Amino acid sequence: MIRERAYPVEPWHVRETRLDMDVLAQSESVFALSNGHVGLRGNLDEGEPHGLPGTYLNSFYELRPLPYAEAGYGFPESGQTIVNVTNGKLIRLLVDDEPLDVRYGQLLAHERILDLRAGTLHRELHWRSPAGREVKVRSTRLVSFTQRSVAAISYEVEAVDGPLRLIVQSELVANESLPAQSKDPRVAAVLESPLQAEEELTTPDGGQLIHRTKVSGLRVAAAMEHEVHGPDHTTIESEGYQDWVRTTIGCVLQPGEKLRVVKYLTYSWSSRRSLPALRDQVGAALAGARLDGWDGLHREQRNYLDAFWDAADVLVEGDPEVQQAVRFGLFHVLQAGARAEQRPISAKGLTGPGYDGHAFWDTEMFVLPVLTYTQPSAVRSALQWRHSTLDSARERAETLNLAGAAFPWRTIEGPESSGYWPAGTAAFHIAADIADASRRYVMATGDTQFEREVGLELLVETARLWRSIGHHDRHGQFHIDGVTGPDEYTAVKNDNVYTNLMAQRNLLSAAEVVMRYRDEAFHLGVTDEEAASWRDAATSMHVPYDEELDVHQQVEGFTRLQEWDFTHTPAEKYPLLLHYPYFELYRKQVVKQADLVLAMHWRGDAFTPEQKVRNFLYYERRTVRDSSLSACTQAVLAAEVGHPELAHTYLREAALMDLHDLNENTRDGVHMASLAGAWLALVGGLGGLRDHHGELSFAPRLSSRLNRLEFSLQWRGLSLRVDVRPHQTTYSLRHGSPDDVVELRHHDQVLRVSCDEPVTVPVPPAEPSGPLPEQPPGRSPLLRLPEHVTQQ
Ligand code: BGC
Repeated sequence: MIRERAYPVEPWHVRETRLDMDVLAQSESVFALSNGHVGLRGNLDEGEPHGLPGTYLNSFYELRPLPYAEAGYGFPESGQTIVNVTNGKLIRLLVDDEPLDVRYGQLLAHERILDLRAGTLHRELHWRSPAGREVKVRSTRLVSFTQRSVAAISYEVEAVDGPLRLIVQSELVANESLPAQSKDPRVAAVLESPLQAEEELTTPDGGQLIHRTKVSGLRVAAAMEHEVHGPDHTTIESEGYQDWVRTTIGCVLQPGEKLRVVKYLTYSWSSRRSLPALRDQVGAALAGARLDGWDGLHREQRNYLDAFWDAADVLVEGDPEVQQAVRFGLFHVLQAGARAEQRPISAKGLTGPGYDGHAFWDTEMFVLPVLTYTQPSAVRSALQWRHSTLDSARERAETLNLAGAAFPWRTIEGPESSGYWPAGTAAFHIAADIADASRRYVMATGDTQFEREVGLELLVETARLWRSIGHHDRHGQFHIDGVTGPDEYTAVKNDNVYTNLMAQRNLLSAAEVVMRYRDEAFHLGVTDEEAASWRDAATSMHVPYDEELDVHQQVEGFTRLQEWDFTHTPAEKYPLLLHYPYFELYRKQVVKQADLVLAMHWRGDAFTPEQKVRNFLYYERRTVRDSSLSACTQAVLAAEVGHPELAHTYLREAALMDLHDLNENTRDGVHMASLAGAWLALVGGLGGLRDHHGELSFAPRLSSRLNRLEFSLQWRGLSLRVDVRPHQTTYSLRHGSPDDVVELRHHDQVLRVSCDEPVTVPVPPAEPSGPLPEQPPGRSPLLRLPEHVTQQ
């Protein structure tokens, strides 16, 4: 955990004012830059020291064996693992023969700033070498949102005293040594030096490396080129060999003189394209980058982000830490998805190797709802990626003797990469999550072309899956047995409420959409009988309820399981999965992450307000939040059932997950779902946004510490702005013609908002809330609001 406040609270920056070696790896994740295609961890320019070097390309992976002690039918044999590709961030500096290394000499000043509006990572340092020579270095790095294969670094050295002889070595390096990625020697063998050299090429001011993975056979090309602005007689030359290319720039600087190097870096990769094709592609990308030049790239980056923030910014007054964190979160979510272009958005984005670089349901249920309302084009492309994996999902369903498509629990390119059934393939709910994300995207954008070409098939194939997994009992009730819901401490059980309700919506949406696209549905082999069977299953879906306790059962029989002994579970035994056998967890009432509570968020239309209050109380007492995918949902429901202060503390936990390294694993990459969750907690929680049945509804109510929450939603080409104050809310519409109107619900009132006329309405007084929900001992939200926070 980052205990001291590492980053000062500022609205648009994440600033690190001194270099703390103990949290170097965490800061590399926090400062990672990406555009969804290329990702650079925030490693220091000179490469060392590092926590974890990392350069990633979306979907560039190696296959590794998934060894089992005892094999079983349907177990995947290999998994995909993201590869640390050729590092092009490296710029080493020699000052009068001594390498700049912050561990030696004296670091007189060191600052890094992630600028959320400029989309850059800026670094300034002042260093005195062991021999007493002083330099100042300023570097600025960007991964371009507008040219997706391009990254660039402006690196400037100033001689404080002199004359100084400077040598800058700017490099491309493949197969960097990394900490062991697996204890299993079979796996380690594959992942050690995963890139095989195919070609290296140098020009005086740069060069290229082309490599191929051993097993997955993917080919990657990396290229660099430099612009140098230095004193007369500055030299430049390049050389290379198999796994490295180095451009060396030398000069002598007088005191106050500067050397500036602009490094353009480009990547391309493919499973199919030939070596010459990739060679040409990186070359062309370099030409594109040079055409714009550093200033052009920098300007385009700013313009791109200005447009994003105009559509997506959230203003929070009263908790400056949350203000900073929600923007930081949105920035990372954008970075993960902006230019992914039909490739996955993984749980860590491209910020670290955590979870092997896999995409889970985190994408559809946490990240995509946020992007739907802020950057819908990214959602379209993420769902097109899912669609492109349909063949693999159909094959998986066939292996499992099921119909339709069984999407993988974790993957990079489509095949199931999870080797643990109970917290892997058994979490079939991912199918309904994908269907729901697709339905929400179409509803919010009106993109019927997508619906016809992509959404329809996703809904049909997932509906088929549900129809074949589930069955009608002798009373006609439909059950989905033997599956795992979101709570991974309750596995392979019958009738998980979340799964059943999401499957119900999936089945109904499929039945509805096939009526709209009859020809296309016919081509997919859908008959009227099949669609009727989906409707039947949906309308007779079993939802387990405990009549005696008057609460829903997360899964059939949950409320009669033995209670977990929380009083005798010391703090150091969390997360429980690392200290107790699954056997123990599976047969007791202990909840890893919001599950029934998540059902009450996304299928809130299936519960009465009274049920929500009772269920929330019941499950709060049993939820330990051993997953970062929980706090945001608990915030949403806490707000809905009348506990805005509790919602606020959960919001803080979700939002500050990485800035405070709350789960002590930010080193492996940021928690994309939790960062997206900050938005969900604010907009869905305190703003009360729901989008059931194609209608936007809001139930805003601020916590006592906030005096304003303002956010925008992209809705069918318009931008709806919601400005919430303690006693009133104003809805206004932008980017439309005077005739455009959005009908929405504010608490129980129906409003019509047009571009001409913002509507201001009072926030109705809160109903008396029930008792304050309690969490298991020691598991209350991690970050209560400090007593004295000052607005910046
Ligand atoms: C959670 C899953 C999540 C995964 C990746 C697990 O700990 O239980 O719900 O999909 O992490 O974030």
